[in-house]
Amino acid sequence: MGLDNFTAQKRASGGGAAGGLPTTTANGRARTMFSQGRQINKTFNNVKITILCGFVTILVLRGTIGIGNLGSSDADAVNKNLIEETNRVLKEIRSDSDPDDPADLEINPNATYTLGPKISNWDQERKVWLSQNPEFPNFVNGKPRILLLTGSPPNPCDNSIGDHYLLKGIKNKIDYCRIHGIEIVYNMAHLDKELAGYWAKLPMIRRLMLSHPEIEWIWWLDSDAMFTDMVFQIPLSKYDKHNLVIHGYPDLLFDQKSWIALNTGSFLFRNCQWSLDLLDAWAPMGPKGPIREEAGKILTANLKGRPAFEADDQSALIYLLLSQKDQWMDKVYIENQYYLHGYWAGLVDRYEEMIEKYHPGLGDERWPFVTHFVGCKPCGSYGDYPVERCLRSMERAFNFADNQVLNLYGFGHRGLLSPKIKRIRNETVTPLEYVDQFDIRRPVHGNSGSRS
Ligand code: UDP
Ligand code: MN
Repeated sequence: MGLDNFTAQKRASGGGAAGGLPTTTANGRARTMFSQGRQINKTFNNVKITILCGFVTILVLRGTIGIGNLGSSDADAVNKNLIEETNRVLKEIRSDSDPDDPADLEINPNATYTLGPKISNWDQERKVWLSQNPEFPNFVNGKPRILLLTGSPPNPCDNSIGDHYLLKGIKNKIDYCRIHGIEIVYNMAHLDKELAGYWAKLPMIRRLMLSHPEIEWIWWLDSDAMFTDMVFQIPLSKYDKHNLVIHGYPDLLFDQKSWIALNTGSFLFRNCQWSLDLLDAWAPMGPKGPIREEAGKILTANLKGRPAFEADDQSALIYLLLSQKDQWMDKVYIENQYYLHGYWAGLVDRYEEMIEKYHPGLGDERWPFVTHFVGCKPCGSYGDYPVERCLRSMERAFNFADNQVLNLYGFGHRGLLSPKIKRIRNETVTPLEYVDQFDIRRPVHGNSGSRS
């Protein structure tokens, strides 16, 4: 199967982008009309659970204390039915699919999926907006304005420990962002029902670009990635001529066509028309159901090392850049001089060695900028690694990073596996000595103005 096959097939099969409003937008609007009904449905479900719990309690009590005159096999059958019904209702409430939602019923595999109405003059519109809103400049003190976007599923994790690490993950990102004057957005919504799961980042990036023209770079960072160098800053001036910055290896991409040549856990998009176009070209493999399943087969057939599973955003981007290299690659910067994304397995056991030999601010294998827990799935049930190993490693990464923050205030964790903290400097040190421990509050480009 040729690399261009999927794209060609998609282009041939539907009008999509250029003509009229796409199906999804229409679905989106229709969906709001159903939300009230869904609310009533949910309340009804809750009442149902309460009643069912009552019945189950009575049955259990009857079984234990032996009252009532139903034959035991009848009682068992009723009991079994009630438990099945309870499980069904619980499952329905926990899942994010709604049997009454038209979006669940109306995915049309023959239409090319789009992220929204086609936009073709964003660069001009944004320029006009920026000139009319000088109080919201896209560069402040010579530095481009950055917004860090991250997020997690709308529902609770399968285990509460998963939610605990989502909390530690966002705490870590908030710390990095407040230290460096970066805005942060945490998204838990599926803006587009068809792009649930790891695809949810695409519509959100697009919405943020359009609603924040003052943002120059949107930086996506996975919930399972942590900043482990609180001092390092992205050398943005290096990317003046590029619109997408992503961690990866050109030889793995172009020579090997490897499905891990790039990592979509951490990447930056410039707010411009080119980026909107790339998002449009990237999205069509995303809609869940038959499209994502079929696209997954094409990706597995074409990318080295890829297991058989539905289309994921990372493989889809790699496939797109391989199949349309000439169209996109001159604006894509593949970064590997520092860990914009760092694969956790090779890093977490070396933190003590790093502390001994190096210092924050390096960002590379000596002191990794980002440690990403690829394949750990702490919020889900099935990861590629033993849960214990993942959680232990995440705790170590969190504490390694958090020590760099606590240090600013004269404290530190007792050890990389302990949540307890200790005072690391005595009280006689003047408070001013705490400030700027790592020089992190000084502007990078030597500007005299501070961020205050
Ligand atoms: N994600 C999201 N909403 C969802 C599911 C996932 O925003 O409903 C994000 C979340 O930040 C997660 C990322 O998508 O970290 C990618 O998934 P994951 O990290 O599990 O994939 P991996 O890095 O292991 O390939
Ligand atoms: Mn991840």
